[in-house]
Amino acid sequence: MSFFEVLEPEFASFVLGNAPVKQVATGFDWTEGPVWFGDANCLLFSDIPNNRIMRWTPGVGLSVYREPSNYANGQTRDRQGRLVSCEHGTRRVTRTELDGSITIIADSYQGKRLNSPNDVVVKSDGTIWFSDPHYGIMTNYEGYKSEQELPCNVYRVDPADGSIQAVATDFCGPNGLAFSPDESRLYIADTGRMFGSDPQHIRSFACDGSGRLSGGDVFHVISPGCADGFRLDTDGNLWSSAADGVHCINPDGVLLGKILVPELVSNLCFGGRAKQQLFITATTSVYAISLVREGAVTP
Ligand code: MG
Repeated sequence: MSFFEVLEPEFASFVLGNAPVKQVATGFDWTEGPVWFGDANCLLFSDIPNNRIMRWTPGVGLSVYREPSNYANGQTRDRQGRLVSCEHGTRRVTRTELDGSITIIADSYQGKRLNSPNDVVVKSDGTIWFSDPHYGIMTNYEGYKSEQELPCNVYRVDPADGSIQAVATDFCGPNGLAFSPDESRLYIADTGRMFGSDPQHIRSFACDGSGRLSGGDVFHVISPGCADGFRLDTDGNLWSSAADGVHCINPDGVLLGKILVPELVSNLCFGGRAKQQLFITATTSVYAISLVREGAVTP
């Protein structure tokens, strides 16, 4: 079987003909939030419905990193290497300090509780950007069913003074988000009011040096499925989750090819020795594949 679908010739140079899509861990209910810790040689990821964060170490295997995880979803690292997590159960974004203590980065906006932070990215200036759709408070499956107090916005937190700003306020369900390698653009997915409903696209915003967004045109419509989480490589290609696997989209918004994955993909991250392995969280499992592309600096 082939693990790829090449739609544009250049995609053939991004993949290795003999590198498998390999299941490295399974037995979960909904995996999400993959983040690679190169210094510890391990991958952390969320198993949201089971309220835990798992750790997978190559050659060693699985262990529980944190349980309960407050139904943690998307995760990343900041430039000091600290874990940053979105938590549905506590409706907040947290940072795990190097000594293991937890710092709350954001849990409210203008006196109202956040909905259920979903995914997060840290810019090189230390600012923390996260999406806050309502998915995690709609049911008791991935958190606690609760009333929505705020629109589904995207926020930017400046850790220098703790200030929080709503930077994108016209989304139905903002979800994955990531910067271009030079941080001049911020890509944000919209996965609709109900998960899997319209719209299903990624928008592209210009981001100036002071963190202001402008533009926001539709960059790419994902089909089949939706863009939940995504990451970029060093050449600005965007690798996105989709219903049939991972889609590779170039900086012009053209779908170059697909990595076919046998389960519904939620998110992914680059990692491994040369940051050329793609770790893919997909429903009950985590898959890995080696590529000829390198992940951009943002983990
Ligand atoms: Mg997500």
